[in-house]
Amino acid sequence: MLTAKVMLLGDMGVGKTSIMYRLVFDRFEGQYKTTLGVEILTHDVMLDVGGERELVRIVFWDTDGDFGTQIFDTVYVTGATAAIIVSDGTRPQTVTRMIELAASFEARFPGRPYRAVINKADLLAADCKNIGIADRSHVDLVSAKTGTGVAVSIAELAAALHRRSL
Ligand code: GDP
Repeated sequence: MLTAKVMLLGDMGVGKTSIMYRLVFDRFEGQYKTTLGVEILTHDVMLDVGGERELVRIVFWDTDGDFGTQIFDTVYVTGATAAIIVSDGTRPQTVTRMIELAASFEARFPGRPYRAVINKADLLAADCKNIGIADRSHVDLVSAKTGTGVAVSIAELAAALHRRSL
C-alpha cells in the first residue's frame, strides 16, 4: 500500500473542506466551520492496475486558506507527496490563485503529482465551463455539492502517485 500526504490548497471558500468531506464521507453539508490550522483526514482509493488491485491511502492536509503562496514557507508542506489545488469557478481571481499555487507547487516539489480543481461546477452555466487555461492536463471541473468529477479527479491523482512509485 502506498501512503501519500496530499495538501489541499486554494483560497478560502473555494470548497477545499467540502471536496474532502465529499470524498471521505460522501456528503455535502453546505456549511463547515472555517478551518483553523489544519484538519487531517484519510481516504483510501482502490486502483485497478492491469487487473491488479492497488490501494493508495491519501492523507489529506486541509489548511487554513489564508496562506496564499506563503503556505510553502510553512511547516505544513513538509513531506508533501502531492496536492489538490482548488478554485471556485464563479470567482476568476481564485482561478488565478490556483494557477499561481500550481506553479509554486511544481517549483517546490518538481515532478510530484497534483490536480488543479475548479469547483462549484453546479453554479456554472454550460457556456462558462471553458475556463481559459492553456494546459488542461492537470485540470478537473468538479462539484463538491453534487459530487460530479470529484472521484475521477482523486483517481487520476492516485494513479499518478502509483505510477511515480514504480
Ligand atoms: P474552503 O474554505 O476552501 O474549505 O471552502 P468550504 O468547503 O468551507 O466551502 C465554502 C463555501 O462554498 C461553503 O458555503 C460551501 O457550502 C460552498 N461550496 C463548496 N463546494 C461547493 C460546490 O461544489 N457547489 C456549491 N454550490 N457550493 C459549494
